[in-house]
Amino acid sequence: MTKSAATLTSCLAPLGFTENAQVHLNLSPAKLVQYALRRSEGVLTDTGALMCDTGQFTGRSPKDRFIVKDAGTADSVWWGDINIPFDTDKFNQLHQKMVQYLADKEIYVRDAYAGANPTYQLKLRAVTESAWHNLFCYNMFLRPEPGADTSWLPDFSIICAPGFEANPAVDGTRQKNFAILNFTKKLILIGGTGYAGEIKKGIFGVLNYLLPHERQTLAMHCSANVGQAGDTAIFFGLSGTGKTTLSADPNRGLVGDDEHGWTPDAGIFNFEGGCYAKAIDLSAEKEPEIWQAIQTGAIVENTRFVPGTTTVDFANKSVTENTRVAYPLNFIPNAIEPSVADAPKNIFFLTADAFGVLPPISKLDKCHAMYHFMSGYTAKVAGTEMGITEPQTTFSACFGAVFLPLHPTKYAEMLGQKMDENPDVNVWLINTGWSGGSYGVGARMKLSYTRAMITAALNGDLDDVAFTTHPVWGVAVPASLPNVPTHILDPRDTWTDKDAYDKTAADLAAKFVDNFRKYAAFANEEILAGAPKVAVAVSV
Ligand code: ATP
Ligand code: MN
Repeated sequence: MTKSAATLTSCLAPLGFTENAQVHLNLSPAKLVQYALRRSEGVLTDTGALMCDTGQFTGRSPKDRFIVKDAGTADSVWWGDINIPFDTDKFNQLHQKMVQYLADKEIYVRDAYAGANPTYQLKLRAVTESAWHNLFCYNMFLRPEPGADTSWLPDFSIICAPGFEANPAVDGTRQKNFAILNFTKKLILIGGTGYAGEIKKGIFGVLNYLLPHERQTLAMHCSANVGQAGDTAIFFGLSGTGKTTLSADPNRGLVGDDEHGWTPDAGIFNFEGGCYAKAIDLSAEKEPEIWQAIQTGAIVENTRFVPGTTTVDFANKSVTENTRVAYPLNFIPNAIEPSVADAPKNIFFLTADAFGVLPPISKLDKCHAMYHFMSGYTAKVAGTEMGITEPQTTFSACFGAVFLPLHPTKYAEMLGQKMDENPDVNVWLINTGWSGGSYGVGARMKLSYTRAMITAALNGDLDDVAFTTHPVWGVAVPASLPNVPTHILDPRDTWTDKDAYDKTAADLAAKFVDNFRKYAAFANEEILAGAPKVAVAVSV
């Protein structure tokens, strides 16, 4: 459907567009798939999904993500390597260039919302160069009712032109690709990259700024689901730790898989209207909900077919390990709508500890909860880069520092306040990573065991179980739980070489302590009581 010139002018004039060859406004998903196929942006898989490549970038590019530094943000944003300042004039120049670049092209406009709670919602308008990125916006943001009047002045807009490349020398970028947030113009510019995750994480960055700063609402990098009794669980964790996988639970309603807000009075709400699941090694047996969501309307990114077929080979890593599938939330059968829920009863911190020294499940008191939230630990496995044989630690405050425009202590203080206001909330640390040794010796925790541990915590099966205090981590480790072999609950028991466990655990504990030094000004005695016990102080 191509809209009248007047409609288009009212939609696009505020974004700087004057005339375009052809503008497609809010096309249906079926039409967007048609356009994407016709324009060779992708191909169909045998389950009806659209398979697309994102080009040179198969993940976000954090070093090319900027925030415009102006009177509105200069004193509020936490500037540094994560929130890199960008000049207003350069932004305006790039905006102009992008509008010119798109002037003679077909463009796709999408109106949507971010935020399932209307009180905290943003009206969005996305302008994309390709049909498939528009379908991504349809899948990932909240969809207005069919026929709804969306001739609004958006609260925030996105221009995404993967084919437009910046000239770093004159445009002020680091390289040709960029994602720049401008809170004064209420506009995100994305160029030079086709990685669709930049779009969703761009809006996440916006809400991570606006909600705590202006609405007393905690923004969280977590998934969420809700039990039949209305009990909410949220799952914080860095990439690959299991937010999406573990929130898809046939016995619980899915609220959302990645981004939520926790309001002062109305519980939690999903920011998004879709899921962006990792697809590597996906199987129907292990992840049936996600598997069946790969249907007509879904987008699979950077995957390859089994030769001679149109069946996706999910084991194929030839393009990237970070293959993805994007689908609307309602493709998961038990997703709830609207995706809002009460304040959480259980909070899970997910970590994929590739050293294999953290317990697979432990209960945290407030000190440990605050300490682990500020630490935001996970590990990357060896082997992805040449010459790296040891797992690499990652500490990312609030399990998502790269998405936080404000100082991490702002979010941590809000979480601490929420815990004080909800004293019955349980906080659990779940190691979805290695057991029986570090990466290379041990193995990743079986998904079925992790699911059983989470189910036990949610069902209250751990209420009457004995706990022991872990000598290094200080966290409470349950003695037993249903459907999980007892001997895996204490990680030291799973290692053949106990001395190696003790040494590896001490080394990791020292890294925690070392990382935490940067929060010395924030850390009070209560938080420091959550630190691991380190025998020998390390100097780095
Ligand atoms: P992102 O923030 O990048 O979306 P995520 O936290 O949502 O990351 P998932 O998409 O859930 O991460 O990825 C977890 C991956 O780890 C999945 O591929 C899952 O199959 C695999 N996995 C293997 N063992 C486990 C386990 N014990 N628990 C959870 N996930 C596991
Ligand atoms: Mn996810």
